Amino acid sequence: MKIVKTIKEVREIVKLWKKENLSVGLVPTMGYLHEGHASLIDASVSGNDKTVVSIFVNPMQFGANEDLDSYPRDLNHDSKLCEEHHVDLIFNPEPNEMYGKDFYTYVNMNVLTEDLCGITRPIHFKGVCTVVAKLFNIVQPDNAYFGQKDAQQLAIIKQMVQDLNMPLEVHGCPIVREIDGLAKSSRNTYLSTEERQSALILSKAITLGQSLVENGERDCSKVLTSMIDLISSEPLAKIDYVKIVDLKTIQPVNTIEKPILCAMAVYIGKTRLIDNFIFEEV
Ligand code: AMP
Repeated sequence: MKIVKTIKEVREIVKLWKKENLSVGLVPTMGYLHEGHASLIDASVSGNDKTVVSIFVNPMQFGANEDLDSYPRDLNHDSKLCEEHHVDLIFNPEPNEMYGKDFYTYVNMNVLTEDLCGITRPIHFKGVCTVVAKLFNIVQPDNAYFGQKDAQQLAIIKQMVQDLNMPLEVHGCPIVREIDGLAKSSRNTYLSTEERQSALILSKAITLGQSLVENGERDCSKVLTSMIDLISSEPLAKIDYVKIVDLKTIQPVNTIEKPILCAMAVYIGKTRLIDNFIFEEV
């Protein structure tokens, strides 16, 4: 496994692979890798001849008061995990390698970016789309892997690939959870022992909402009220949003008639956590 920091090196390595007609999978990450990331890597390794993992804490997707500086980083740990999961190449650029002084081009999307996390994080998805488009151009993968953990992001990337005719396939991978239900996240490391316990309220609310919908409830306000009541019973939890939206357009719906995404962002203390479920068998 190689670790490179420049776009030039990635291009040279991928060019050799393409010459041999080898397929390439890309797993974009911000590092501090855990089993959630590993599941994406495993999907890529089993579906491609070569797998590239990018590790880049992308400044462009963080708002002014967000956790860019404190975001956890550990390249030693990450490279060990990648090696164990048979990754071929890690791309770990510095910000100035990705964004020169004279950087003026952004990928902006309407509609899908406007609700859910787009409300509290208004510049986030512009940063995500721009960096992912750049990574696609740099690595030129045949396949790219994203987690359903960030379901709005997954919908947005699929839309971007469709709208901009990007020549690759985007694969969504299921949410990987801790044994007690908490969705794995690099940000879980911010939680104190007490907060870690309180954070279970997210997955408990997801389980509750999912069982209501699976048992036939189609009125979104009833599902959401039950979930919000449960989360509100946890003193350390502060709701950013709990919503049900159309899975493809990320637009709010009142009745479940098409595939939906039920998504939430909840602060546990100062840490903002997200979780969701999708329901497709309408
Ligand atoms: P991040 O490093 O948090 O930007 O995540 C990189 C990729 O890993 C994204 O596509 C995430 O959706 C995915 N991911 C993060 N956590 C999980 C998880 N618990 N289960 C599945 N995928 C995940």
